[in-house]
Amino acid sequence: MLREIADRETAEKARVEVEVGYQGEPGAFGEVAAAAHGGVPRGFASFEKLLEALRDGEVDEAVLPMDNAVVGAITEALEPFAEAVVDGLELVAVAVTSVPVRLSLAARPGTPLAAVRRAWSHPAALRQCTHRLAQMGIERVVCYDTAGAAQIVAHDASTDAAVCSRRAAERYGLEVLEEDVSDKEQNGTRFIHLRMAEHARAQVSLAFLRTSSMTATGRLDVLTGATLLPLAGTAEYPVRMWVLGADAARLQALAPARDVQVISLGQPAAHAAKVTPPKQGTEPVVKSLPHATARKAPTVVEVGPLRIGGGARAVIAGPCSVESREQVLRIAREVAACGATALRGGIFKPRTNPYAFQGHGMEALDWLVDAGKAAGLPVVTEVMAVDQVKPVAGKADVLQIGARNMQNYDLLRAAGRAGRPVLLKRGAGATVDEWLGAAEYVMAAGEERVILCERGIRTFETSTRNTLDIGGMLAARPLTHLPIIADPSHAAGRADLVEGLARAAWSAGADGLIVEVHDDPARALSDAEQALIPARFAELARNLALHPDARLPLAQLRAWVDAIDHDLGVLVQRRLEVARVIGESKRQTGRAVLDPRREAAVRRTYQEALISNKRLADKLVDLLLEAAKAQQSIDE
Ligand code: PEP
Ligand code: MN
Repeated sequence: MLREIADRETAEKARVEVEVGYQGEPGAFGEVAAAAHGGVPRGFASFEKLLEALRDGEVDEAVLPMDNAVVGAITEALEPFAEAVVDGLELVAVAVTSVPVRLSLAARPGTPLAAVRRAWSHPAALRQCTHRLAQMGIERVVCYDTAGAAQIVAHDASTDAAVCSRRAAERYGLEVLEEDVSDKEQNGTRFIHLRMAEHARAQVSLAFLRTSSMTATGRLDVLTGATLLPLAGTAEYPVRMWVLGADAARLQALAPARDVQVISLGQPAAHAAKVTPPKQGTEPVVKSLPHATARKAPTVVEVGPLRIGGGARAVIAGPCSVESREQVLRIAREVAACGATALRGGIFKPRTNPYAFQGHGMEALDWLVDAGKAAGLPVVTEVMAVDQVKPVAGKADVLQIGARNMQNYDLLRAAGRAGRPVLLKRGAGATVDEWLGAAEYVMAAGEERVILCERGIRTFETSTRNTLDIGGMLAARPLTHLPIIADPSHAAGRADLVEGLARAAWSAGADGLIVEVHDDPARALSDAEQALIPARFAELARNLALHPDARLPLAQLRAWVDAIDHDLGVLVQRRLEVARVIGESKRQTGRAVLDPRREAAVRRTYQEALISNKRLADKLVDLLLEAAKAQQSIDE
């Protein structure tokens, strides 16, 4: 009983308090970072001591300054950090916090500015005000911390000053003589939050890289969009750096030399499949394509419930052709009920055979738009000729440029002037560069909201209509900020392969899908072979974790929830099995099986994932831990 109470108290404490270590005295900038996510800050005299404390479990988390707007890499912190991970300390990066830095010049009350000859501070802070201090004729004196400098000056009877935050100055009773002596306005420092790998999951990609080859890492920042924070070279490793924001496997693959060593601090699992678009604020990735390959935050295309890009994923569904008012309305309702976010439907159809159905034209646009309104979905439809652009843009929400027209430059320009987002299919014979070139035409004409769509390219393979080029889609990802979706229907040309291709593209990190759905494929006027019937689309939507609504028939909603229950059961079973193996591993290596800090980390994971119901998250954790303990035979 007593142990139970003690256990509960430990768990309660761990649940509410995360102790976060930083280097410095109270009032240091690190303290601000440490408190940023509700942590309880605790100061340490050096970065080495801080990392030791994290290793020994004295703190749950540590914050380290990585880079500063004025001086770049903070080598004072990054060197001991590198040494620790090279020595095998298993850390993961869980967050990044930017702290605005205003470096005040502060002295004992009554000290005139003109009397100040020396200023104390941390070397990284002193480097941020080299010019300003030189202008004032003030000599720089190094000490271990900005707030520590304030403390030293406060205890010293001289006219020395400290370079520190206003908070630190006030804390030690100093008077601020100059508000900000940074060499650059809007100074700021980024801190990385670290935890021990066994107690947390990585949320931020961070790796240490070292190599003896001077040329191995030349274009890593351009190719990955990562921030490179270089450290001084050694005889053995002339190139050493921290890389923030790139996947370790990709770094290894891109660095051409064999002796490149990459030590990863974990890869955020949820992002593992996504390749991040290029870093912001510098030249475009491809100079001749300044719009499509600009280095900017991911473009998010937004029309009503349709949101694509920057983490928002969309599923556009509907018939190949709009065949009648009733047909499109029925299908619109079906796909909306499954959680689709936009409705597709062709009114002008590019057909290989000139005698095949060519689409019902402008009349069908009204049927499509009305169906969209009734189902609450924005509509996407293809334009094939310049003179169709204006009338269609008057009513449709998104203009599609088909694969056959990807290099119809007049059409691209006209679509770019129409004031509507453009869904740009990749031509069946177009390279990734040509596809981006086509997007550049649309953007140069004025439309920034372009959605790229991989729909299969022509290869020697005849068992599918086209070959879905997931490799090309992934290759385009680091080159552009535009959302990229996949069209498994036109790639496969056969309904039986659509779900597999859709799931492959989704797992590879596509920003969305466009899927053809028909409720009577046998009678469809175009692309009959590749249409999913609504029930199969519902299955796909369930697999993609879309959100159904109450219009879906009850039997289907039940099937949806049954599938989730089954998956949950299987996952719980797997969790118990892995927990049992962990118990075995701990016993074999002589480590304690019970670990309250680890339990607290599990609890946090569930609370983060089950954000809408923290009580349920807690109950689930209690049940799981109880079951795991029973399995690990701790209770008897
Ligand atoms: C379509 O989406 O109906 C279509 C004709 O696609 P694609 O241009 O990719 O062949
Ligand atoms: Mn089609």
